[in-house]
Amino acid sequence: MKMKAALMYGPNDIRVEEIDRPACPEGGLILKVMAVGLCGSDIRNLTSDSRRGNYPFVYGHEIVGVVDEVAPGLTKYKVGDRLFLFPGTYCMECDDCISGHSENCHNAEGLAGTGGFAQYVAVSARKIQLGGIYEIPEDVSFEAASLGEPLTSVYACEDNCKVGYPDTLVIIGAGPIGCFMSQLAKIRGAQKVIMIDINDTRLDMSRQFGVDVTINSAKEDPIEAVKKLTGGKGADKVISANPANSAQAQSIFMVKPGGLVVFFGGVPKGSLTELDTNYIHYNNIWIKGHFGASYIQSKKAFELAIAKNFPSSKFITHRLPLEEINHGIQLTKTGEAIKVVLFPNGMEQ
Ligand SMILES: [Zn+2]
Ligand SMILES: [Zn+2]
Repeated sequence: MKMKAALMYGPNDIRVEEIDRPACPEGGLILKVMAVGLCGSDIRNLTSDSRRGNYPFVYGHEIVGVVDEVAPGLTKYKVGDRLFLFPGTYCMECDDCISGHSENCHNAEGLAGTGGFAQYVAVSARKIQLGGIYEIPEDVSFEAASLGEPLTSVYACEDNCKVGYPDTLVIIGAGPIGCFMSQLAKIRGAQKVIMIDINDTRLDMSRQFGVDVTINSAKEDPIEAVKKLTGGKGADKVISANPANSAQAQSIFMVKPGGLVVFFGGVPKGSLTELDTNYIHYNNIWIKGHFGASYIQSKKAFELAIAKNFPSSKFITHRLPLEEINHGIQLTKTGEAIKVVLFPNGMEQ
């Protein structure tokens, strides 16, 4: 049997073609992909030589769908079940996993981390055994459920950093992640969210997600602006959610003495950020890297995404058929879209 998939042949060379539908793995299942989000990391991967010449390749990890086929003997799921697939797959046996920090698993496997820009994906027996698969209630849309993945690392970050009342929080980067960060920070009780970006369209859009003040750092000095907004003190926490080394370097001057700076967004591979470590030293600044999420955080984030009072439809600005993936990439790159969701099996659900 054949299916449609968006194959990457090289940087910016994405073609939707017919390929063989995956066979049902032993003990596993085939998921019919009903919605798949376009992630910031997808954009980075699809527009650079992310596979170092090893093409074609199918990306897509924000996957939700319906079980289309199950291997004989599989009882945990049945045809028709609506599932969310968390891409992280952890062993649940190593010390980090059993300590509750499966995001640091020594044996993490990319078992469900890709292949979603297609009509069907195979889910292995091992993924089913290790978990990170959650059932989507009947009254929740697939697109809302697909936000569970991008929300996961945001949820984990604010959970680990204890963002909450009465924080003043600076977020650098008004992309989808920045918008999620702001919305969740307000849910958790943050008192003031200051959003910094160089793109006015993004800054304006971010205002609907709990952002109190926006700063365009291409037009004004963001450090001065943050200081002014915090009575000269600096913010309680600063999250750099963008790929710029310069934003990381500036972020330490926006936080108060003893405050926390989080490097959330990845910078270009191999690039180094120049930091004033004397300033960090004399001001007792905490610096934390953040990546990924534990299983329990992924579950909580999924529950948040499908919660009735979570404004998922405001985040999803563009819904496109899989064939229009290149258009979706453009919309995300320019900042016109917050979140693009693709529908490989038709738009009507
Ligand atoms: Zn993602
Ligand atoms: Zn582990």
